[in-house]
Amino acid sequence: MVRTRFAPSPTGYLHIGGLRTALYAYLFAKKNGGKFILRIEDTDQTREVKGAVDIIISALNKAGMTYDEGPIAGGDYGPYVQSQRKEIYLEYAQKLLDSGDAYYCFCTKDRLEQMHKDGATKYDKHCLRMSKAEIEERIARGEPYVIRQNIPEHGSSTYHDEVFGDVTVDYKDLEDNILIKSDGMPTYNFANVIDDHLMGITHCIRGVEYLMSTPKYNLLYDALGWERPVYIHLQPIMRDATHKLSKRDGDAGFEDFLAKGFLPHAIVNYIALLGWNPKNNREKLSMDELIESFSIDGLQKSSSIFDETKMRWLNSLYVKEMTADEFHAAAKPFYDKYRPNKNIDYRYLSELLQPRVEVFSDINERTEFLDAFDFSADTPFDFSLFANKKWKTDAGMARDIIDECIAATECDDVDRAEKLEKIAEAHSLKKGQVLWIYRIALTGAAATPGGGDEMIKLFGKPEALKRLRHVKQCLYDN
Ligand code: GLU
Repeated sequence: MVRTRFAPSPTGYLHIGGLRTALYAYLFAKKNGGKFILRIEDTDQTREVKGAVDIIISALNKAGMTYDEGPIAGGDYGPYVQSQRKEIYLEYAQKLLDSGDAYYCFCTKDRLEQMHKDGATKYDKHCLRMSKAEIEERIARGEPYVIRQNIPEHGSSTYHDEVFGDVTVDYKDLEDNILIKSDGMPTYNFANVIDDHLMGITHCIRGVEYLMSTPKYNLLYDALGWERPVYIHLQPIMRDATHKLSKRDGDAGFEDFLAKGFLPHAIVNYIALLGWNPKNNREKLSMDELIESFSIDGLQKSSSIFDETKMRWLNSLYVKEMTADEFHAAAKPFYDKYRPNKNIDYRYLSELLQPRVEVFSDINERTEFLDAFDFSADTPFDFSLFANKKWKTDAGMARDIIDECIAATECDDVDRAEKLEKIAEAHSLKKGQVLWIYRIALTGAAATPGGGDEMIKLFGKPEALKRLRHVKQCLYDN
């Protein structure tokens, strides 16, 4: 049975790269009828952010990746939060101490600093050869200590990674890392091994930053007599050729993109393809299709560059597919944010906007026309709006036809088009000229999501008439 895990640290933020790691682990598990596990790696309590676990769980839910085991959901291999597993790590640390694969280290911060000043590039195994009696005495005295991994001084280690192939590391390039810190908490270097084994993880899918330290973890698996998992390391998502997409860019978080009005599945679909090739040339894939087509050999060895424009395009495909109700529900928070309390038919606004929005934050720009001119106040109308280069219109024409435009607005909706055509004929104007002037007079904005008819429907006839009369007044006063 395939078992994969997503093992984030609770930093209060789910990076899009982390979400993609989770996604590949999820897809691989589901493709193989296996289980996807969520494990919280909170052993660095100084970095802990309140509510961070909820953020991760809610992000996974929104992204449609239901985990089978983990915090809250539970499971047979818990607890799934590392800070609740302290005793377990200490038990295995003791085994490693007994077998000589780990040792106590009492070196002070000062000594370590001095050691580095003197040119050491890694810990010098100073405490390795301490006698049992001395160790016991110092522990009894209450001296703080850590437990370090005892890496062989000579030789090398090779393992196979499913993406990068065979990876060989010389032991001389590895340090005797701390396994248990002085506060009794394990480090990542230790906990990942213990947990992956005890939780029955068969495939370890994680960032490439762990590629070269994996031989250290393999030594621990070997020392404890455990089978190593299959390793799948992933290249990072890049902002450009040389920089990783980072939190500092301000918008590398899953929640940031949701706030911008990307749909969760569009994000998931896009990041799935950033580092993995489905080999069927398809770009728009549902979660079921992603699961169906996922395979390890489609994972890329090179990193990929995040392209928000492309993600916008993909998002627009999903937006177009939404039902009117779904679109309206998703658009509402953006109306509340950008154009609250307008005296308009918001439901109809949604109809006008659905074909014109790629991501929901586009609603801001697309609805600017609602604030273009304050028809209720005593403000002079901006006549320059009537001038259109293509149509060669001007305010003088507007003045000539404004009365008839008002009459056309008062008539039944079905007759309006004909009325406007008649205005054009009577004044020797082109239909386009009349329509331009009409729409400008109704909205005070050059760009609107629809023409005169749509605007009347959006505002309601009384408001439309009020606006036209206001413009008429301005034109006559001028
Ligand atoms: N907590 C680690 C991280 O956030 C997880 C790495 C792993 O998946 O093993 O980088």
